[in-house]
Amino acid sequence: MGDNRRVALIRQSKKREGSESPEIQNDRIGGHMDQRGQVRVATVYEIGVPGDIERDGLEEAVRMVETGQAGGIVVAFFDRLGREELGIYQTLYRLEQAGGVIEFVDSPTLDPATEAGRILIAIQAAMAKAQRMKITNNWRISRERADLAGKYIGPTPYGYKRVDGKLVPTELAQYVKAIFQMRADEKTWAEINQWLTANAPAPKQKPNGPRVAWVVPTIKGIVANVGYLGHTHRKGKIVYRDAHEALVSLTLWESAQSAKGVRSTSGESWLLSGKVKCQGCRRNARPRSSGAGHKAYACKKFHASGTCTNPAFAVASQLEDIVVAALFEWHDSVFEGLQDLVDLDALAEVVAETRTVLRQLVMAQATSRFPEEFAEGIAEAEARAVGAERDLAQAKASITSGLGVPRVFRLRDMWEELTMQERREALSGLIDCIVIEGHKGGPVSERCVILWKGQAAAFAPWPVRGQKSEMVSLPWPLEVEVGLAAAEDAQERVV
Ligand SMILES: [Zn+2]
Repeated sequence: MGDNRRVALIRQSKKREGSESPEIQNDRIGGHMDQRGQVRVATVYEIGVPGDIERDGLEEAVRMVETGQAGGIVVAFFDRLGREELGIYQTLYRLEQAGGVIEFVDSPTLDPATEAGRILIAIQAAMAKAQRMKITNNWRISRERADLAGKYIGPTPYGYKRVDGKLVPTELAQYVKAIFQMRADEKTWAEINQWLTANAPAPKQKPNGPRVAWVVPTIKGIVANVGYLGHTHRKGKIVYRDAHEALVSLTLWESAQSAKGVRSTSGESWLLSGKVKCQGCRRNARPRSSGAGHKAYACKKFHASGTCTNPAFAVASQLEDIVVAALFEWHDSVFEGLQDLVDLDALAEVVAETRTVLRQLVMAQATSRFPEEFAEGIAEAEARAVGAERDLAQAKASITSGLGVPRVFRLRDMWEELTMQERREALSGLIDCIVIEGHKGGPVSERCVILWKGQAAAFAPWPVRGQKSEMVSLPWPLEVEVGLAAAEDAQERVV
């Protein structure tokens, strides 16, 4: 196996109590190394060092890998590596060039050696940049954007026609609703078939072909089609949500699925476990399955410290749809803003400037009667010019050959390819938690607020699992003013 010698990198931007203390980071790293039989060759501490400046400690750790003193670096959490996107890429690029690895104890899927890992790293790095850019909390779903993306894939489903690639309901839509309703009422396939044959125009196999007879497989196909929920999909996997008008409600669709003989095409159970908080008591709204297979996130109401007066409840699929759509929206907007992120022109300008300064000093020295007085200045200017050239070269390398991460990509295009663990990782990197208000107040979309990374700290203290704490509700509506600008020192992990 490979080189198992590791440098531990520990960073804390400001001295304070909390879960990110150097001791905790050290413990996490120690456990990680023990488990893997790794040898710690050095521990580099950066205390009082923000993530977005020149980092002597990080430089030292990377050098150790480059000079063959270690096989890699271990960091407790991704954000301990840094908060400057280009810097993160350069570090990873240098490690890759040196044949070294980097391991994040808390996020094993952030592995630059895998494709999914590189994508997740790109998301995290973009998040770091977004925090610096003070991008605001604008997560509302842009309907137009979904519409643009919502061209239907595959044959036109019964009850719809195509207009500019998108599905539009026809007068046959009523029969689709009837099919779902009968199925939800536990009618057999044969009964439904009989009814349709007597009452509904038969389906066509081809858009302009003749009508064929109703048969059970066609009906089963209709009931299993998530397209009737308004989503476009590829073989049952949802590609775009809310792409066209739905013919059936989610409740009706789900009750039709739960009748025997239909396999659900949704595989997204418990995407948000541990991330959903109850507005009434600040505690986790936990995953809950009903006997009928309906899934929800719910506050359990009776807690060791007391009773929640407004227990949160949200149908899992509805909440997950909202959060995922917001995640895509956020991701698109951030990545649009990041297109000019690595500003090669600006770096090239710095190179030109430093060269000009150097040239002027050298010329001045040549004509001066006291050339020795220029020596120090010239040495400094030379170092600056060399540094600027290195920055430019590294930026170019990190963009072109470096990690092979597309500079701009659409999370929604790759979402279906990610595993559940990777999706949870992507969410964890971007979202502190989702707060749900009790269920008396209307649709989930109006009762949930996403607290993006760094925003939850503004509503501290959060209850810690296993510790008694008072039942204090969160203010409602939850006014999130801080945006993503919450500074690093304000950030606290939500346990
Ligand atoms: Zn509660």
